Amino acid sequence: MSDEPRQKPSNFIRDIILEHNASGRFGGAVITRFPPEPNGYLHIGHAEAISIDFGLAREFGGRCHLRFDDTNPIKESQEYVDSIIDTVRWLGFDWGKHLYYASDYFEQLYAWAVQLIEAGKAYVDDLTPDQMSEYRGTLTEPGRESPYRDRSIEENLDLFRRMRAGEFEDGARTLRAKIDMASGNINLRDPVMYRIRKATHHRTGDAWCIYPMYDWAHGQSDSIEGVTHSICTLEYEDHRPLYDWYLDQLGVHHPQQIEFARLNLSHTIMSKRKLVELVQQGLVSGWDDPRMWTLAGLRRRGYTPEAIRDFAERVGVAKAAKVVDIAFLEHCLREDLNRRADRRMAVLRPLKVVIENYPEGQVGEMEAVNNPEDPAAGSRRVPFSRVLYIEQDDFRDPAPPKYFRLSPGAEVRLRYAYIVKCTGVERDASGQVVTVRCTYDADSRGGDSRGRKVKGTIHWVSASHSIPAEVRLYDHLFSVPKPDDADDWKTVLNPRSLEVVRGARLEPALAGADRGSRFQFERQGYFCVDARDSAPARLVFNRTVGLRDTWAKIEKGAG
Ligand code: ATP
Ligand code: MG
Repeated sequence: MSDEPRQKPSNFIRDIILEHNASGRFGGAVITRFPPEPNGYLHIGHAEAISIDFGLAREFGGRCHLRFDDTNPIKESQEYVDSIIDTVRWLGFDWGKHLYYASDYFEQLYAWAVQLIEAGKAYVDDLTPDQMSEYRGTLTEPGRESPYRDRSIEENLDLFRRMRAGEFEDGARTLRAKIDMASGNINLRDPVMYRIRKATHHRTGDAWCIYPMYDWAHGQSDSIEGVTHSICTLEYEDHRPLYDWYLDQLGVHHPQQIEFARLNLSHTIMSKRKLVELVQQGLVSGWDDPRMWTLAGLRRRGYTPEAIRDFAERVGVAKAAKVVDIAFLEHCLREDLNRRADRRMAVLRPLKVVIENYPEGQVGEMEAVNNPEDPAAGSRRVPFSRVLYIEQDDFRDPAPPKYFRLSPGAEVRLRYAYIVKCTGVERDASGQVVTVRCTYDADSRGGDSRGRKVKGTIHWVSASHSIPAEVRLYDHLFSVPKPDDADDWKTVLNPRSLEVVRGARLEPALAGADRGSRFQFERQGYFCVDARDSAPARLVFNRTVGLRDTWAKIEKGAG
């Protein structure tokens, strides 16, 4: 519940920083970085990392860099760089002038590689990729040394220079660190530092045909930038000894690497490879498809940066992997939208209602509060007339038990307006109800005058004043909570993840609503104007989230 004081989740990373500050390890400095590889769009898991990296820097009066670890030109692109910059900014974080690229360090990294060769700590290897993995050994068996491991320093320097000069084909040679083929940590079994890739890089163009491996670039990039706390996800724990080895050999500044568990969210997958597949195979309409948990998708769906930041903070930092229920993300969103979204009436599937005793041509104006949570949001006037639309679902003939909406002979309140009573229906040839006939009680306007109460209240729009819209209703893209557990994740896509409702009718206050603007459609949920497809003459709304809070139920069930 929103009013209860929130317990700040314990945070072991904060504790480590406090310890460092107490011992003076980094002189009190807290410099972090968020280091995406520009090989896809950011997703909700990245929001967790961003919020930790930028959040801790802000908390300790330090700074956080945005650095692109752009070491693999084959999978990276400027489009991804641009989207990441735009998204981190949208989330509300600021790196000031500290925008960096690992590719800016290519020359320095090359010089350091030469330094390792000169120290006898790196060598050029001619093993093919297949041979190399055969030589690597397994978790239980040590690896074997490459026959090229003992090349002379002079030969290594010459070959490495010629690798850079483009004399050899892709994959023909690599530069490897000379560490320990028997190490229990496979990352230390002479890891590759450079590979030949005759590919054009989105920033360095064709200046290079050898590219550093991520592991050779990452720790040194942190070091160059003076990063103090290099926060990353758990899969890098086993790489930490390698980063330390490199930094020790080079005798340069050591950040402290700290690992935390990745965020997993139910009904989603986080692997970028699979996200790329979803997009490239057209299983979604793009990276910003509103069903996607990419930050671009969530943004288009109508999520606010505040809700995402709140979610990230409340999920907290953990050392053990867990799957967070997507209902919790939706819960955080509802809390935020409840405070900020203006209320409107929208009829998604219209059913015509004629108020027989309301004079033809007369137009009433009903006062409607914009947001009961925010008095400053004011109110508006909603036109009322003889012919209205209500939701098809709000009428039944005959009424099932405990149905408190409209049915023959029954009374219902029209929100902000009058109590009406159903006097009859008109049906088409197939027996379908096409018009509901009612009378209204002129004394019942607004509240419950004369002490008369009715059980149901329904929303409505005046037919001639209403405006048309397309409304897109979304459900989870996957029909199971853990799509990664399926034999093939593509077989558990939810066939009903998108429903397009074409004939919706909206109250006229929504005319010309700006792209991206958010509303609560009363009794239905939160909706936003689609930022891509909506136009003043053809409004398109996305359902951001329904009103029913499944998280509250889950919590109740657990407690
Ligand atoms: P890959 O490395 O497979 O391309 P990635 O998701 O690790 O994918 P990066 O660009 O390397 O993508 O991620 C940037 C930062 O975000 C890294 O520090 C990474 O640890 C962090 N990160 C990525 N996924 C998550 C997640 N699900 N939860 C928390 N942090 C994440
Ligand atoms: Mg990664």
